Amino acid sequence: MFVIEREHFQALLEALHQRGFETLGPTVRDGAIVYDRVERDTDFPIGWTDEQEPARYTLKRRSDQAMFGYVVGPHSWKKFLFPPRERLWSAAKNGNGFSVMPEPDHSRPLALIGVRACELSALAIQKKVFTGGPFVEPGYQSRAEKLFVVALNCGTAGGNCFCVSMQTGPQATAGFDLALTEIIDADRHYFVVEAGSQAGTDILNDVPHRQAEKVEQQAAVTVVEQTANRMGRKLETEGIKELLYRNFEHSAWEEIANRCLSCANCTMVCPTCFCSTVEDVTDVTGDHAERWRRWDSCFSVEFSYIHGGPVRSTTSSRYRQWMTHKLASWIDQFGTSGCVGCGRCITWCPVGIDLTEEVHNIRASERTANKQ
Ligand code: SF4
Ligand code: SF4
Repeated sequence: MFVIEREHFQALLEALHQRGFETLGPTVRDGAIVYDRVERDTDFPIGWTDEQEPARYTLKRRSDQAMFGYVVGPHSWKKFLFPPRERLWSAAKNGNGFSVMPEPDHSRPLALIGVRACELSALAIQKKVFTGGPFVEPGYQSRAEKLFVVALNCGTAGGNCFCVSMQTGPQATAGFDLALTEIIDADRHYFVVEAGSQAGTDILNDVPHRQAEKVEQQAAVTVVEQTANRMGRKLETEGIKELLYRNFEHSAWEEIANRCLSCANCTMVCPTCFCSTVEDVTDVTGDHAERWRRWDSCFSVEFSYIHGGPVRSTTSSRYRQWMTHKLASWIDQFGTSGCVGCGRCITWCPVGIDLTEEVHNIRASERTANKQ
């Protein structure tokens, strides 16, 4: 374990720039903390925090100058690795035929700064989806191979966080090059740093740092322990797959559908959701065509449109599909839950539908039925 003093944080950004990384991190925009380019330490949300409840997100001033004193906002890192809209190939008319040009690899090495433990899990889940099977997504793979990850052990738990239930946080344990714990005490502001790869060690060597003292290491442990004890929510995961499979027919789905707007917000903000569609476009001459991929959602009617009609035509069937995939069939498909407990779908659902509560209600109804 090492220590980087707050005044040397800029040196970390410069070390990453020196090695050709585009640095991406949290910044304040339009009343929220969003992920974007960060060039200087002053680009970070210094002195800001967020308050989150179902359907509610508010930025507030903190009493200190913390750089990472908030939780997670509406953005996730997936937008950099799996862009919301991306050209897959182009085609040009060529005499009586046409030729197809694959999309060149424009990806630059990216350094993600301030990646929470739940978000590390989300990155690992999406990597498995896009590169872990027989068909590899080349764009994702290229971007993932060049990634440098600066993780952040959480010092704040949000009102909708439940990473402890999903065993994904708040401590970063794998998938990072460097992991920081931000410590602010009465007269000091510093980061306890752990290197998780050789690339991390190399960058650290370019930044003024020193060995962490015992008391500093203990301070980092305490920060994470306190965060773990302050989770806003809890999800009982024992037998959750079987629970949802057993309750494929349950009145809860209709009841949720009476509130759900089928707006797809929950899937857009989710760091693991990966559904997409493709669109083909031509120019006015008809000589040039392109295929674009864009994010789609299981909440759109068109998404399940096959053979003349949508398979999931009702909101209840779409919500059931989303939640059952996230928390149950994802386990069969990819070996892990599709949920990392970040709470975004709860915060950004305009009507405040909370999947932890919905699972709890289904479980409670079963328990009641079993007692009768
Ligand atoms: S389902 Fe909700 S809580 Fe779980 S990872 Fe997605 S956005 Fe986060
Ligand atoms: S659960 Fe909420 S965010 Fe998701 S589609 Fe329904 S209304 Fe929209």
